[in-house]
Amino acid sequence: MDLHQLRERIAQIESEVAASLTKAGSGDAVRGLDNRVLGKEGSLSALITSIKEYPPDQRGQVGKLVNEAKARVKASFEARLAELRAADAQAEASAAGAFDATLPGVAAPMGAVHPVTAVQWEVERLFERLGFTLEAGPEMESEYNNFEALNIPASHPARDMQDTFWLTNGMVLRTHTSPVQHRSMKKFGPPLRVIAPGRCFRYETIDASHENTFHQIEGLLIDRDIGLPHLIALAKMLLTEVMQREVELRVRPGYFPFVEPGLEIDMNCRICGGKGCPTCKNSGWVEVLPAGMVHPNVLRAGSIDPDEWSGFAFGLGLTRLAMMKYGIRDIRVLNSGDLRATVSPVRLGGPIVWEKSA
Ligand SMILES: [Zn+2]
Repeated sequence: MDLHQLRERIAQIESEVAASLTKAGSGDAVRGLDNRVLGKEGSLSALITSIKEYPPDQRGQVGKLVNEAKARVKASFEARLAELRAADAQAEASAAGAFDATLPGVAAPMGAVHPVTAVQWEVERLFERLGFTLEAGPEMESEYNNFEALNIPASHPARDMQDTFWLTNGMVLRTHTSPVQHRSMKKFGPPLRVIAPGRCFRYETIDASHENTFHQIEGLLIDRDIGLPHLIALAKMLLTEVMQREVELRVRPGYFPFVEPGLEIDMNCRICGGKGCPTCKNSGWVEVLPAGMVHPNVLRAGSIDPDEWSGFAFGLGLTRLAMMKYGIRDIRVLNSGDLRATVSPVRLGGPIVWEKSA
């Protein structure tokens, strides 16, 4: 083969490569072709191995021609591979539907409000409208504030009803939010309107309606000429507003040492509609609002003259109310990590919307 024939052979290989490349529909096909032309025994590489058949003064020329051809062919392979990759990407995009990179991303879920918190906020808003002050008390209380100041001396059998957790420093985990009654009387003096939401603790055997940790809202109103009708009217309004429907109430005498007379204000069980279920202990009624007229001893302990002032107090069972409102059968889920027991912000409605942070 002389140089002229070599040039023709190279041109022939290149045109074959060009024809095959347009037909190569995949990266693998291109790589296969690459191997047949540029591989160790490929058609172009074979031309280099024949270099020793040329006279020495032509060998440089032969090497140059073949290497230039190799570079052109290599570039054409790479161009075709790039074309194929671009086509693949486009096909993928159209298969996935129109993809618009300028659209905003999908917002992560914002979380939700615990049912007890949702009800607590609702009750707080209601009482704020009625002129009540929001107070908080400590969860660790003195024995005096939790019991003595509320007319429950050490010898009193009512202490057994509220077995609690005693701490090594002599304090107790409060068994109710009622200590805030005493604290508020000392802090504000009469007349006063206070609510105090918070956690309470009792040494309870846990079942569907009892927990060792639960939430209450304490309410206290002290003024002149306050009587039971004020209390019952407020209870009716409170429960109707929170449940967002007409609520049937049952008022029974109840005994609590810090009120006289004492009442149990119950509402009909929403879980069973009054037929009886484990949540309402098969009675059809749920105790949500123990209440009563503040006992004169409690007023005196708070430095308030019972001959001049009277008032009522209640301990709204926030946990039970949340269960009734949202149809939660078992109190235990409320302190568990089960996220199904949360309230979607959308369901809150009314004034308590979960406000989006900007
Ligand atoms: Zn029931």
